[in-house]
Amino acid sequence: MNKEKLAENLKRVREEVEIAAQKAGRKAEDITIVAVSKHQPTQYIKWARELGQIDFGENYIQEALEKIEELNSPDLRFHFIGRCQSNKAKYIPGKFIMVHSVDSIKFAKELDKRCQKTDTSQKILIQINVAKEETKGGILIQEAETFITELLNNTKRLNITGLMCMPPYFENPEKVRPYFNKLRKLKEQLEQKLGIKLPHLSMGMSSDFKEAILEGATLVRIGTNIFGPRKY
Ligand SMILES: *Cc1c(COP(=O)(O)O)cnc(C)c1O
Repeated sequence: MNKEKLAENLKRVREEVEIAAQKAGRKAEDITIVAVSKHQPTQYIKWARELGQIDFGENYIQEALEKIEELNSPDLRFHFIGRCQSNKAKYIPGKFIMVHSVDSIKFAKELDKRCQKTDTSQKILIQINVAKEETKGGILIQEAETFITELLNNTKRLNITGLMCMPPYFENPEKVRPYFNKLRKLKEQLEQKLGIKLPHLSMGMSSDFKEAILEGATLVRIGTNIFGPRKY
């Protein structure tokens, strides 16, 4: 990957977001591209920043903290999209604009405690396991109302702003649409039942972000189509 190739990739992704938004009768400005930079060099983040990309997604706390420190750019917005482990919650306040993947009360309470200590607040999304996959994180659709109620009653500094999902992969992205639709329906039901606003839907990755936008995604998490394949 070089900067020219990255520029080309970003331009294409932005155009595709624009086209999908138009098709859905939505404004492209209402959709944030989160460039998923996990396992990619910090240099790529710098190049992307020079090309106007501000939002980045990271899955691993340690890797993210090292990059954030190295970059030392307060204008960048890092989104935490990885597994939420309670013992890592202390590293999050002040570092991440949003945590997309909250799926445990224990983690949420720990994060809330750390926010109180540092006098900050934290935007979070609740990760939903829309296809009941055993290998994936997230809470089940039927548990979402109880889960959010418990968070509302037991935390002070967490701002629940929406839902996130990671549906199964299909060769044909049309097959993923019903799962995105489920998440959107759940959001609408929860808003009604709980009387809260959940403006964000974080859904869609490289292979299926267009379908996610058609179903209402406000945050699309795109790695490979921007930065190329990851090197492990
Ligand atoms: C890695 C990852 C992505 C990006 O996946 P690509 O297929 O490379 O676009 C998005 N969301 C989550 C939660 C991820 O872990």
